[in-house]
Amino acid sequence: MNKEMHQGKDEKFIPMTSISSGSLRKIMDDVYYFTDQIANVILVGKSKDDWVLIDTGLPEREDAIRNAIHERFGQDAKPKAILLTHGHFDHVGGLVELLEDWKVPVYAHELEFPYLTGEQSYPEPDVTVEGGLLAKISSIYPNAPINVEPYLKPLPADHTVPELSGWEWLHTPGHSPGHVTFYRQDDGLLIAGDAFITVKQDSFYKVLTQKTELNGPPRYLTTDWSAAKQSVEQLADLHPKMAVTGHGTAMKGDGFAEKLHQFVKEFDQVAVPDYGIYAPDQEH
Ligand SMILES: [Zn+2]
Ligand SMILES: [Zn+2]
Repeated sequence: MNKEMHQGKDEKFIPMTSISSGSLRKIMDDVYYFTDQIANVILVGKSKDDWVLIDTGLPEREDAIRNAIHERFGQDAKPKAILLTHGHFDHVGGLVELLEDWKVPVYAHELEFPYLTGEQSYPEPDVTVEGGLLAKISSIYPNAPINVEPYLKPLPADHTVPELSGWEWLHTPGHSPGHVTFYRQDDGLLIAGDAFITVKQDSFYKVLTQKTELNGPPRYLTTDWSAAKQSVEQLADLHPKMAVTGHGTAMKGDGFAEKLHQFVKEFDQVAVPDYGIYAPDQEH
């Protein structure tokens, strides 16, 4: 097995951004997130020496992540660990570079390991899927695996989250095989990756303005829609009070659980594409 770390070998420039790009925002006292271009990076913890980073954004954006960390925890702060919701290019972008510097463990679900150890590429993005411009140009998105094997560790089987007490991880596959969501029951906070998102990721305009609305996982990369639906059902059943997702603005407040339940009811109509390589029931 190749022990040398590397980013995906098909890294490409991502020509998009959003109006909120670059701002560090607070959800709870110990949870901040930073939207870099189109992807969210989450910082969980209260002090410089005791925090974790969840996901690492788009390729070649590690300096932007460092700036956000600097703003939150001061110069030279490094996390105790990095947690991954999944291994897509827009969630592991700065990972190799940051690890070379920090040398901290990276935790992910074992089903994502092939994509994080250089063994296997994700399926090609589906440029034919029903959706807007971002789906049409999704062939420019990298899908080759990165390799972070020296630092990679499986999330614990008992569903506890390393370095984060009071949190649990839930397997929420569909968008990718080993996709996970982090949940804190005390305040009902979900860190949901791309299990669902709060912006219409295949609309260029809505990504640009970050109009907040519940949406299914980004279509061009989602390969198992029935698992994706079950995952959102599982999350809605927790009656969460707020969520920060991989893309879009965090949602919080009265009625969030209700909105998520409603979204589950409409999932087949609003989230699942009518056509595309991975769309179900293509016969009719
Ligand atoms: Zn993804
Ligand atoms: Zn994503």
